Amino acid sequence: MSYCAIVGINWGDEGKGRMVDLLTEDYDIVVRYQGGGNAGHTVINEYGKFALHLLPSGIFRPGVVNVLGNGVALDPENLWLEIEDIVSKGVPITPENLKISDRASILLPWHRDLDALEEARLKDKKYGSTKQGIAPFYSDKYQKKTIMAGELLYPEYLENHLKDLMEWKNLTLTGVYGAQAYTLEQLKAWIAEFGGKIKPFICDTGAFLRKAQAGDKSILFEAQLGALRDLDYGIYPYTTSSNSIAAYAPVGSGLPSVVLDEVIGVVKAYSTCVGEGPFTCEWLGPDADALREAGFEYGAKTGRPRRVGPLDLVATRYGVQVQGATGIALTKLDVLSYMEKIPVCTQYLMHGMITDEFPFPAALPQAEPVVKYLDGWNCDISGVRTWEDLPKAAQNYVEFIEQRIGCPITYVSVGPERDAYIKR
Ligand code: GDP
Repeated sequence: MSYCAIVGINWGDEGKGRMVDLLTEDYDIVVRYQGGGNAGHTVINEYGKFALHLLPSGIFRPGVVNVLGNGVALDPENLWLEIEDIVSKGVPITPENLKISDRASILLPWHRDLDALEEARLKDKKYGSTKQGIAPFYSDKYQKKTIMAGELLYPEYLENHLKDLMEWKNLTLTGVYGAQAYTLEQLKAWIAEFGGKIKPFICDTGAFLRKAQAGDKSILFEAQLGALRDLDYGIYPYTTSSNSIAAYAPVGSGLPSVVLDEVIGVVKAYSTCVGEGPFTCEWLGPDADALREAGFEYGAKTGRPRRVGPLDLVATRYGVQVQGATGIALTKLDVLSYMEKIPVCTQYLMHGMITDEFPFPAALPQAEPVVKYLDGWNCDISGVRTWEDLPKAAQNYVEFIEQRIGCPITYVSVGPERDAYIKR
């Protein structure tokens, strides 16, 4: 029996999906505890290459039960498309290996509309939303103005609730944004189509998890995005609208009393960031293009080119601290093989003063990176599977990071395939 959370330490896209896919071998249950389908985990395995958006990454492992916890933004329409896509590639998805919390709130069609309408209103001050409706969804959840998945099992209750919500939401849609109002028929048709599809998967996942806990099952808790996108601890307002940190795993999963044994933080060997907001180590121009191409840094959901730069140890150390990471999986080390010298941001320069501390978001745009260069290894390491076989310069790079972030690096990933890693 063990309880482990696997989380992003930086801005997301650290390669969590690949690590969860690898680690699921040792777990009975994988739970997604927050976020929606607005980001993507890329997983490559015997079935092919997949961009998972909402489904837990354990979905490919026979015998693993996957849970969408109460903390997620449950978009039945996109979830169904994702399920259909994966099933069409030969992966079985049934109520036996996928369970959706009856307490997960449902992302309704107007959440996507409102996301797009608000980004359009903001024009050049936009937050860089993926327009999947996540921010309007979470604000409505906390206003108690959404429906819970379990309500699909109570049609009469649901219809009355939906009608009340629609009357309230139409005031904003028409009055604030001059958009089209929803009709109850439209909503009922949407619920009948997509709610109907996911209904067989909905159950009391809290009860299921408590039983699993009593039966000594091992549970892996999977997060979306990274510490710097956490609503409370990230680079607000350029964060997501939920808590992506490990501390939220118990609440968002349906096992509020669970104490995690392990928190594996995923760090990429260099920095990437999608969307708006301060990004201290950002490279522009040919260096950025070369790194982006080497790491194929394009959004899994949107295809947007990611912003790239050297590893930011100030942000990473902060991420390790807020996540309470007990071990680190360092991914994409192989991508740096083309560099003669490898730049690393060790500290920030703020108003002429050197600091190790990650600043308050409003002060972050003033931070300048202090960069140190480490030796590159200049050879292909994608076939290396043991620490001893890793070139000395690559070992030094890993050890340098480990020492600066104050957390052991227990996995080093050298390729996207399931077996392309080194366990230390
Ligand atoms: P996630 O959201 O944190 O899972 O991150 P992404 O889905 O953006 O994953 C990062 C990308 O890098 C995916 O395309 C992975 O297949 C790929 N990837 C993960 N680990 C490695 C690695 O060690 N080396 C290389 N070359 N690619 C990797």
